[in-house]
Amino acid sequence: MEESYLDPRRLKLKLDLLRRRSVLVAGGRYPICSWCRQPIREGAQMNEVLLTRGDARGLPDPWIIMTRYNCVLMHPTCHENHGHTYDGRVACVRQIIGYEKPEKVIEWLKDIRPVFWGAVGLVDEAIRMVERVRRNNNEKGYYPL
Ligand SMILES: [Zn+2]
Repeated sequence: MEESYLDPRRLKLKLDLLRRRSVLVAGGRYPICSWCRQPIREGAQMNEVLLTRGDARGLPDPWIIMTRYNCVLMHPTCHENHGHTYDGRVACVRQIIGYEKPEKVIEWLKDIRPVFWGAVGLVDEAIRMVERVRRNNNEKGYYPL
């Protein structure tokens, strides 16, 4: 799928996230990085979080994971250094459920679960991850973006 990195559906989602998730800060409207929580003033990178492109390889439609329920924007260096670590995933999930609400994210995961018929464990793990982050957030009483 690497050669399709600039697939129009991926680009469309990135533009959608830029539009939905930009906030007014000094100097303009920018999305907030899911790792460091600072504005991304240039070069935003999109990261697939709960289900990766590797997880979706071989599906009839591997682009099923390109949705706001699964993706965040990050600084290039934050993406490189933290995008694929456990703590990085937790931070990204926290931002996703902050924007999209945990029930909606879990609903999306349950909807696509049958498509992963050979690897539903990946989807179940993603659901547990959302529930874990939601539980931890609930103890704090809010969903920080
Ligand atoms: Zn960052």
